[in-house]
Amino acid sequence: AKKYVLTKHFEGEPKKSDFIVVEEELPQLKDGEILTEAEYLSVDPYMRAYMIRFKMPADMIGGQVAKVIESRSSKVPVGSYVTGSFGWRSHTVYNYDNPSADQQLPVHVLPDFGPYPVSLALGLLGMPGNTAYFGLKELCQPKAGETLVVTGAAGAVGSHVGQIGKILGCRVIGFAGSDEKCQYLKKELGFDYAFNYKTANIRSALKEAAPNRVDCYFDNVGGEISSIIMSHMNKYGRVAVCGSISSYNDTTLPKVSIVQPSIVFNELKLEGFIVSRWANRWQEGIMANLNWLKEGKLKYQEKVYHGFDNMVDAFVGMLRGENTGKAVVKAK
Ligand code: NDP
Repeated sequence: AKKYVLTKHFEGEPKKSDFIVVEEELPQLKDGEILTEAEYLSVDPYMRAYMIRFKMPADMIGGQVAKVIESRSSKVPVGSYVTGSFGWRSHTVYNYDNPSADQQLPVHVLPDFGPYPVSLALGLLGMPGNTAYFGLKELCQPKAGETLVVTGAAGAVGSHVGQIGKILGCRVIGFAGSDEKCQYLKKELGFDYAFNYKTANIRSALKEAAPNRVDCYFDNVGGEISSIIMSHMNKYGRVAVCGSISSYNDTTLPKVSIVQPSIVFNELKLEGFIVSRWANRWQEGIMANLNWLKEGKLKYQEKVYHGFDNMVDAFVGMLRGENTGKAVVKAK
């Protein structure tokens, strides 16, 4: 068994030399425990932001879909798939019958996804899917006819947010990092407008796409673009502050980006959130997303990297924007 250990805090973009891969002996299973082998591992922006909180060295955090290869739990058959926050490790021993408190999200045996790949448990039918579902519905509370803007729009969370916005009858505007991604958002996912934030004038784009200004903003990126979008919002607009990826690798912080005037003058309601807030409604989100998927109302793409040894390349690639949709690593 192998695991990735982060030996020093990231400085700027993550580097291979920030990690070591450690070999581990696996213990004998006790009653209630399962042994799993990673099938798909997730690479997510929150890992870049979150590892700052740990003392170094620290095991790398992250979700995975794993196959159960031994089981001493009557609830988990060998051969089934589970999803859990097991970290960047090839094998995991986990006490399914007496779960530890350090798992923020429920570890569970995957239901039958039918024709869909089990990797969706890391994306549309997992944490990013629930981030989109609960973050948008609960915090932005979009109504039919309203205008919704989402940044990071071609990524796992953003592409999902925009599609739910369309299901709910909103005018949906996305900002993403390439013309190709914008074409995909408009042609495949039904966004009303999509702009390349690297080349577009953000103010002109908003004037063109949101003549009635913006009611809901799902903020995945923070920074200057978010200040501009907030200045173009209607009174009592709602902002779900989901992430701020534009600053995660930025070593030149603190940068002053003054959003307060927009918040005051437009009387906005901003709320930050962590998706585990809805851990006790987890299955509601998964089932809603699965039903929309089956009805053809939600589409997805995955960027699949190959090989457990390539976790760092996948992580850096995702942070650089190589992915459209969810970035995952197929372990073998
Ligand atoms: P994505 O699939 O969206 O992948 C990250 C994307 O970020 C890249 O594809 C890239 O796309 C974009 N990006 C990279 N650098 C920048 C930059 N400087 N400015 C703008 N965009 C950039 O990841 P997720 O969908 O998993 O996450 C999206 C956001 O949601 C992140 O901020 C993440 O931290 C947050 N999040 C928050 C959760 C919560 O509970 N609050 C849970 C899950 C995610 P591009 O080509 O468009 O630049």
